[in-house]
Amino acid sequence: MSMPESNNYDVVIIGGGPAGLTAGLYAARSRLNSLLIEKGLVGGQIANAEVVENFPGFPDGVGGIEIGDLIHKQATKYGLKTTTAEVTSLEIKDGGKTVNTTEGNFGARAIIIAGGSQWQKLGVPGEEEFTGKGISYCATCDAPFFTGQSVAVVGGGDAAITEAMYLTKFAARVTVIHRRDQLRATRILQERAFAESKIEFLWDTTVDAVEGEDFVSKLKLNNVKTGGKSTLEVNGVFIAIGFKPDTGYLRGIVPMDAAGHVVTNEKMETDIPGVYAAGDIRSNSGRQAITAAGDGATAAIYAEKYLSEQ
Ligand code: NAP
Repeated sequence: MSMPESNNYDVVIIGGGPAGLTAGLYAARSRLNSLLIEKGLVGGQIANAEVVENFPGFPDGVGGIEIGDLIHKQATKYGLKTTTAEVTSLEIKDGGKTVNTTEGNFGARAIIIAGGSQWQKLGVPGEEEFTGKGISYCATCDAPFFTGQSVAVVGGGDAAITEAMYLTKFAARVTVIHRRDQLRATRILQERAFAESKIEFLWDTTVDAVEGEDFVSKLKLNNVKTGGKSTLEVNGVFIAIGFKPDTGYLRGIVPMDAAGHVVTNEKMETDIPGVYAAGDIRSNSGRQAITAAGDGATAAIYAEKYLSEQ
């Protein structure tokens, strides 16, 4: 099917986080007719961070939302077009590529998949029921609701510790529940958390269930070493146990690893000529805003080279 002229692009980028936005910046500056498709607000996961301290060029830190806004502004200045839609499938036929979305279909000569990842769920009883009723996946979004209250954070990585530190500005007590006896988080974050009097740690502990009436009131806990069961009374729980890639619509189209990340080479190329992946969605990504931005730039550079050779 031939697409209307306005629906045909040199490059269609899926996802508006640091990877997609940077790919858009590079593609637009290469004078490629480029469209970025984002289902929500631009920025991606980084928009959930109150302050980002490790994005180069911002010695005093920068707001997570601000990073997305700045790259978006920079890319659109050079002609990147953006639209709000959810991608439902890709069609790759005889070299022709179409990105199908909830708002229409877009023809592309090259595609950069930069759709990032979604919060990992704990998968315990009560999680679905109490999401939005005391369970949150984003402290920056929801911490003020818990002012003066007791909250738990589940996880031991950078996200969990960053969330716990942010929560101390509002909550009276923050309990970090981690399944091992050592944090995965970066040392500097660990040092800050250990020095924070409002934060306490429950080691070797997993959550069996989230319980309450209308709102979360307690967590049923399990000590993985002793098998001992306990209950922790809390008003809220923030789940920060990582992310999983948003690649359901790509199954059977591009090769993925066992966890569902898109497999690329160092040029961000997938097995399909002209189809690239960048950022958290990619297998073995650095999972940082800056590495995602680097992936996006690399993908756009090689997409431009591919298109110029067609
Ligand atoms: P992560 O580094 O994968 O850490 C996930 C944590 O959750 C780990 O401690 C893990 O335990 C635990 N976990 C995983 N599944 C679990 C389960 N089913 N039940 C209980 N605990 C579980 O993920 P992240 O913290 O979301 O970070 C993702 C990426 O973003 C990382 O690369 C991180 O560096 C980056 N990030 C950076 C910053 C920053 O620099 N300020 C902030 C946020 C995120 P184990 O340790 O036992 O595996």
